[in-house]
Amino acid sequence: MEVVLLLLAAVAILTAALAHRAAARARVSEHRYRMLAAQWPDTAIGLVDRDLRFTLFEGDALSPHWSPTEVIGRKLADVIPQDRIEELRPCVEAALAGESQTLEWASVRSVTIYRIDCVPYRETDGAVTHAMLAIRDIGEEKRLQHSLEEQRGFLSAVLKQLGERVIVADAEGTIVDFGGRHTAGKLDLHPLEWAEAFGLKHPDGEPFGPHEAPLLRALRGEEVRDVEMRVDTPVGTLALLASGGPITTPEGRKLGAVVVNADLTAFRDAEGRLRRSEERHRRVVESMVDCVFETDGQGRWTHLSENWTAATGHSVEATLGLPCWDFVHPEDRTAHAHAFAPMLAGERADARLRHRFITTSGAERWAEVQVRAISGWDGLPTGFVGVMRDVTDTQRALQHGAAESAVMRLLSSADGLADMGQGLLEALGVELGWDGAELWQMAGDERLRRTADWTAAGVRLDRFMAAGARSGYEVGDGLPGQAWMSRVPQWKAEIADPARADESIGDGIRSAAALPLRTAGVPVGVVILVSRTPREPEPGLVRLLEAIGGHVTQFLQRREAEGRAAEQAADLKKLSAIAHELAGQSDHYGARMTLTRAVRDVASASSVMLWEPTGSNEELEVTASIGAALRGMTASLAVKSGLGDAFHTGDLGFAADVLTDPRVKFRWNERTGAQSGAWVPIVQDERTVGVMAVSWNTPRRELSDREEGLLQLLASEAAITIQRTDLLVQLQATARTDALTGLPNRRVWDEDLEREIARARRHGGNLCLAMLDLDRFKAFNDHHGHQAGDQLLAATAIAWRPALRATDTLARYGGEEFAVLLPHSDEEGAMTVIERLLEVVPLGQTASAGVAVWDGGEDAMQLLARADAALYEAKHAGRNRALLAA
Ligand code: GH3
Ligand code: MG
Ligand code: MG
Repeated sequence: MEVVLLLLAAVAILTAALAHRAAARARVSEHRYRMLAAQWPDTAIGLVDRDLRFTLFEGDALSPHWSPTEVIGRKLADVIPQDRIEELRPCVEAALAGESQTLEWASVRSVTIYRIDCVPYRETDGAVTHAMLAIRDIGEEKRLQHSLEEQRGFLSAVLKQLGERVIVADAEGTIVDFGGRHTAGKLDLHPLEWAEAFGLKHPDGEPFGPHEAPLLRALRGEEVRDVEMRVDTPVGTLALLASGGPITTPEGRKLGAVVVNADLTAFRDAEGRLRRSEERHRRVVESMVDCVFETDGQGRWTHLSENWTAATGHSVEATLGLPCWDFVHPEDRTAHAHAFAPMLAGERADARLRHRFITTSGAERWAEVQVRAISGWDGLPTGFVGVMRDVTDTQRALQHGAAESAVMRLLSSADGLADMGQGLLEALGVELGWDGAELWQMAGDERLRRTADWTAAGVRLDRFMAAGARSGYEVGDGLPGQAWMSRVPQWKAEIADPARADESIGDGIRSAAALPLRTAGVPVGVVILVSRTPREPEPGLVRLLEAIGGHVTQFLQRREAEGRAAEQAADLKKLSAIAHELAGQSDHYGARMTLTRAVRDVASASSVMLWEPTGSNEELEVTASIGAALRGMTASLAVKSGLGDAFHTGDLGFAADVLTDPRVKFRWNERTGAQSGAWVPIVQDERTVGVMAVSWNTPRRELSDREEGLLQLLASEAAITIQRTDLLVQLQATARTDALTGLPNRRVWDEDLEREIARARRHGGNLCLAMLDLDRFKAFNDHHGHQAGDQLLAATAIAWRPALRATDTLARYGGEEFAVLLPHSDEEGAMTVIERLLEVVPLGQTASAGVAVWDGGEDAMQLLARADAALYEAKHAGRNRALLAA
């Protein structure tokens, strides 16, 4: 029963759920349908079910022919005319089968053209329930499209008629093809590729950059006017003149761009031919530099060829009739007259002379003149004929050569730019014929200041030079500043320097040249040359100035390199002196003092501390210091500090201001007066063995590379010193003691004996020496073994040493022989001490001794010999006794 109820309830719930789903689906369909209708407002939309009956019809695109009320509920065949239904039915059926199709129906005169889209209409579950017909009149659209196509065809034809030189791009930057040969294959390029793809070049052959393509510029909204370009095409290089601009609608919307290329090829070719022939002509004319002339007997021009004008600027007509020397440079007139005099006197028939003319612009031209006299019946000249050749360029080249060699001579003996300045100016000024010269260099205030000046003999440039002495130029300012900045020679054919224009004009200066001098590309000076004669830029001179700039530059670089080498040599010399001095130091502390002193001297420091790890390796200790008494001071390595960093990293550290530098952990300034300091690690075999703290009492901004290098070299020297002295101390200790007994060995004995004799000799006083030898030691060895013998020797030393004073020396002399030196002991005292020793020989053994008292004059050998003799006697006398030497 309960089960049946439960089943019923389940069926009821299921049924309700299904009903709900169907209602929801219907709502979705309706919604979709309305959406579609809204998207196509000019469209009539109908739904046809599987019975080919309209279930819905909406939209008035077809009114008044079809209205929804007439159509809904009726079959397709009742609504659609008979002749059309056969066409439509398959489409509807196809749509019901899930496939879309389109039909176009045109009225008789194509006034209306219906486009019918038959599409399957699906429910949300994907099942096709209806065919949907979207019906639209596209007559107007078709007509518009047709007329657009016509227009386009027309435009295309027009453009074709204009040649292939019109190029059009749409707003997206796609080239519109009108069938032009040159656009072939280039339609879908990116606009930035146009310049390269079309091979666009400037008239000088330089390719266009991607942004320079005229069509691209036009597309970007620019009006392009007369851009000359060269384009390589399969038919050859074309010279084109491009013009164009953007194409926009009246409302300002951009549609694209157009560029028209006019062909200049023929024109440019003709132009080029003309230019070339002109050039040839000019060259022919120019090569006829000789000017042919005639004068009368008094030297007045009667004929001059046209070249006269070319060379001097004077017209031939205005010149004829005037005496030829009127045109000669005033400074050359005497020489000129001198050359002419013998011919005028009939003493010579010809002459060859070289002199300057003054041109109409006031400039100088050099001429080489060959002249021959025409003699009359009396032998006196009735006239002269000759040729003149303009040799200005040759003359200048000679001058340039002379100037260059003068500069080279100067450079070979100079020490630096400073002491060469004056000579350089003079060499250039004299050899190149300038009136004044200056050298400008960068001063501490970041302004160019004049460091040398020169004025030609007999010339006064007082105002100009005085103004120069007062002036300072910033980079880029005035002629010196411009040359400094541009780094290439500057030529001012007219006025020297706007900053000193008044003074320049006042002193009659007309032209100036500026020559920058550089080392390693960096300007170091500017030479200014000034002339009261106007000088046109002389290409040869600019080249010469460049060459001289190069020489001076090389010279300065060489000097700099030499200076560096000298510094390095000096550093090395200092270092080798230090190394030498250090090598001579065997004393642990002495070597460290020498080292710190050397570092202070070489680094021009105020004080130097040598920090070395103490045994614990947890702190550093000052083992030597110079400039401040800080020996013994310690610093913990647990605290982070510049000192510790240098020790741990092995890297050199620098503190420009020890007062504020957080790495400075001890009162560096207070203790040494340091303002700046450096921590120089001493590294040996990749292990830091110490740090040199170097301090300067005058603040320094940084360490130069050279100083750093030097300090590092010193540090490696220090490492060697530390290692060597440590080793020495160790070696010394082992070399001076006898391993078996721990007593000083024979070497120490010899040294001590010499020293004590010397001391006794100096101060007077007693000195006794004893030689002791174990008795029958050989027998002891034989009986107890060699090792027992060794033990006896060691035990003897242990027994004897405490019986002596600290100032006494007990040494193992060799074998089982001991030597004792007793300063300040007299005969009696010595005998007592030695006898006491004989009493304490261990293991029941005995020893014998010979004692000698220094006689105040004898040497060590003699004293020893006497003690030895006494020992010998003691043995002979039965052993186990001490005898005093005779
Ligand atoms: P005496 O001096 O009384 O005349 O007799 P002696 O036996 O001591 O004389 P001698 O000088 O001829 O012998 C010395 C011996 O000491 C010879 C050598 O074998 C021994 N000797 C020398 N040096 C050492 C040493 O370092 N260790 C040991 N065990 N024996 C040594
Ligand atoms: Mg012996
Ligand atoms: Mg012996």
